[in-house]
Amino acid sequence: MQKPFILFLLLGLSAFAQKRPATDRPNLIVILTDDQGYADVGFNGSKDIPTPGIDRIASNGVVFESGYVSYAVCGPSRAGLITGRYQDRFGFSRNPLLAPKDPTMGLPLSEETLADLLKKADYKTGVLGKWHLGAHPSLTPTKRGFDEFYGFLEGGHRYFPEEWTLEESQVKAQYDGYRTKLTRNDKPAENEETDYLTDALSREALDFVSRHQEEPFFLYLAYNAPHAPLQATDKYLSRFAHIEDPKRKTYAAMVSAVDDGVGALLDLLEELELEENTLVFFLSDNGGPTKDNASNNAPLRGFKSDFFEGGVRVPFAMQWKGQIPTGIRYEHPVISLDIFATASALAQVKPKNELDGVNLIPYLTGKNSNPPHQALYWRNFDRNRFAIRTADSKMILEQELEFLFDIQADLSESKNVISLDLNRKNALSEKIEHWKKLLQDPAFLGLLEDKEYNKLHPDRFTPDVAEND
Ligand code: CA
Repeated sequence: MQKPFILFLLLGLSAFAQKRPATDRPNLIVILTDDQGYADVGFNGSKDIPTPGIDRIASNGVVFESGYVSYAVCGPSRAGLITGRYQDRFGFSRNPLLAPKDPTMGLPLSEETLADLLKKADYKTGVLGKWHLGAHPSLTPTKRGFDEFYGFLEGGHRYFPEEWTLEESQVKAQYDGYRTKLTRNDKPAENEETDYLTDALSREALDFVSRHQEEPFFLYLAYNAPHAPLQATDKYLSRFAHIEDPKRKTYAAMVSAVDDGVGALLDLLEELELEENTLVFFLSDNGGPTKDNASNNAPLRGFKSDFFEGGVRVPFAMQWKGQIPTGIRYEHPVISLDIFATASALAQVKPKNELDGVNLIPYLTGKNSNPPHQALYWRNFDRNRFAIRTADSKMILEQELEFLFDIQADLSESKNVISLDLNRKNALSEKIEHWKKLLQDPAFLGLLEDKEYNKLHPDRFTPDVAEND
């Protein structure tokens, strides 16, 4: 990774730079993995996949034991994270289709992204990896507050550059998007990528931090690992001779590649003396789809796409050296939406829209000992499924299926007590009814409606005439 050279350059520069106080517009790094299981990090007890890099965030800061995302699949979860708002408030209820001609297929322009927000405080902003918030030219990263982007617009991607045979303009079907060449700043990347995708994103992350070390920066490092397809290099596979199941072995290798990247990024922050000026969040965008990628959500019930804990409670940790205690495990529920609110408070910029998250810092320093949230909510519009989490309860309602769990005592959601406690059910239902009033119907057709969408938009991937000129 050419680290010694970069370090030589940058250490030289930083010696002369005046350092900002740690609390003056601290840098923000959000590391998001894709479809990683709750159990598949060392700080949540993983035995077969060591993650010493990621675990450093936990030992430098806090593990959120009840850390949630706002949805159980990629797209809507990312829309929540990047706006700090429940995504159903603006109709982002489904995974978007890759639809480069459709300005409604993605994050509506009414929404302010975390990058938009931090630009107001003169941050340099970058996103690496998976975007998945719209492929129309009006919705791409550089139109949504990001100065820099290196990655792909689709909901997933293959990992070996030799399999990237298409330009974005050559895509003719939804999953062609997995084979596109990478995009840099919304144009085809000039240099042909040669690295395994996860390594490429890690390399770019180091480069971004090195180049912007003197100014406040926000880096959104959205790895697509360990989302399917399961693909890893021998370098990482060779670490897992002890795992027999080939799927689990490859998954482990993919997680290990991310872990190397995270470790290298933390090394760089340390070497540049940026640790006290930088918040680092690590989380997965949803729970593990255990059958697809051999992830492990133990001891949680369920997996990606459902509202049992295995779908929405994720590995989640954060560090801010010198400002929050180290090595703590925080039990009260927090949610990915809190990242936006925390950043907004620390950068001292007012968000454009009403937020659903809270600034976590006073809770982590002990200044505020209350739980950050009275309740957290989820909606799956197409299934008419709702869920709510309060301090001691978790309820899921889906037509005739109704579940209520004493979530503190029954982490694995094994004992449905809904028929035993009608009063509690009614009180929680009332909260859900109240919350529902904030929400909109879906703004676009989703991944499962690919064929329907093609019927309605037969020219979906046809290049515009102007582009043919
Ligand atoms: Ca995902």
